[in-house]
Amino acid sequence: MRQSRLFTKTQKEAPKDEISKNAQLLIKAGFINKEMAGVYSYLPLGLRVLRKIEQIIREEMNAIDGQEILLTALQQKGHWQASGRWSDDTMDIWFKTKLKNNVELGLAPTHEEPLTNLMKKHIHSYKDLPKYVYQFQTKFRNEVRSKSGLMRGREFLMKDLYSFSRTTSELDEYYEKSKDAYMKVYKRLGLGEITVVTFASGGSFSKFSHEFQTISEAGEDTIYVDEDKNIAINKEVYNDEVFKLLDIDPKKLVEKKAIEVGNIFKLGTKYSEALNLTFVDKDGSTKPVIMGSYGIGVSRLMGTIAEIFNDEKGLVWPENIAPFKVHLVGLNLDDEDVKVQAEKAYQSLTNDGVEVLFDDRVDVTPGKKFAEADLIGIPHRIIISKRTNSKVEYKDRIDEESQLLDIKNVIDKMHG
Ligand code: ATP
Ligand code: MG
Repeated sequence: MRQSRLFTKTQKEAPKDEISKNAQLLIKAGFINKEMAGVYSYLPLGLRVLRKIEQIIREEMNAIDGQEILLTALQQKGHWQASGRWSDDTMDIWFKTKLKNNVELGLAPTHEEPLTNLMKKHIHSYKDLPKYVYQFQTKFRNEVRSKSGLMRGREFLMKDLYSFSRTTSELDEYYEKSKDAYMKVYKRLGLGEITVVTFASGGSFSKFSHEFQTISEAGEDTIYVDEDKNIAINKEVYNDEVFKLLDIDPKKLVEKKAIEVGNIFKLGTKYSEALNLTFVDKDGSTKPVIMGSYGIGVSRLMGTIAEIFNDEKGLVWPENIAPFKVHLVGLNLDDEDVKVQAEKAYQSLTNDGVEVLFDDRVDVTPGKKFAEADLIGIPHRIIISKRTNSKVEYKDRIDEESQLLDIKNVIDKMHG
């Protein structure tokens, strides 16, 4: 992409009411726009990052037999009444609306009920099970406070997968598989080292659910980490019974702030019984389907990564999800020779499928170009100017000094 054609501008300042570091940086760099507290639009650079995070998650969900769908945000009341979750007393974050004829609708905060209902048309026999269904979908939650930028939206993107199984052991098996898949996702996003599986309360069906918590001072959650075992527990299950059960010495637990980037839950038959999703088993008996739910906060992850990977100059994207791999910065582009060389480098990189943002703007000073490149945070930078002659200056976003290298070598390096 040519930066001269990119419609977004960087901003000197983030809005005064934006107190989170992730949103401040993303707004200044032109990745997102703040519509109101907890509600953000994605601009070209931001959408590229969001889609890359999504794609990594998609690959890992497909690898554990997930089938992608897209459910609706508009929800009919009946399914949620059936599970007892329509009332604002049981679910206090609803956004509700009405049809012209006064029929009430909800904007989905999650999708257990509608999917359970939908699956009734497709699951009848034990032969139809197990099944794993997921989506990337906008959720609406009327959160009381939304001060953490992308990390707590009132409208946000979630990956939610639901498992439908015959037996609890089939559920357990998939549940463990999903844990591994989740850790693969966080690893690929550069968060593997600082994300810890955290035991949380499990509801009626199982003793525990599991959260995936990324350690960060900006986190809203407090967890207690056993650094030897590389697990943690959250506040809900901080008690003697659990210490014993998990063989944890409470004296060794280290209290940390963390961001919940995922959450998996054994639902059992809660929703299948409420909505009457059953199957006929081998022995001819009719049984409720056994379910699990598996969430990842896609937009929260983007906020988390922005919150963690930055320096005083701006964002520092991990390579896997950077909006572009290379920032090709052309200086002195009014010089015909330089211009030809920069255009050639751009063509060569793009022809070979390297994602390049080409700063081809003629009327912008070098100082401004570099400051903007630092703010945007693309991992590799190639500078072509009058000074570089047949060579180029190359540096990574985090490097202080650049090296003067042969253009061909740098281009080869970027292909690799
Ligand atoms: P939290 O405890 O942070 O309120 P939750 O437990 O209600 O989240 P789930 O319903 O389990 O969240 O949703 C699955 C995932 O979606 C969470 O693990 C989190 O990563 C993400 N998520 C939840 N609420 C939000 C939000 N308001 N904004 C952005 N992401 C969210
Ligand atoms: Mg939670």
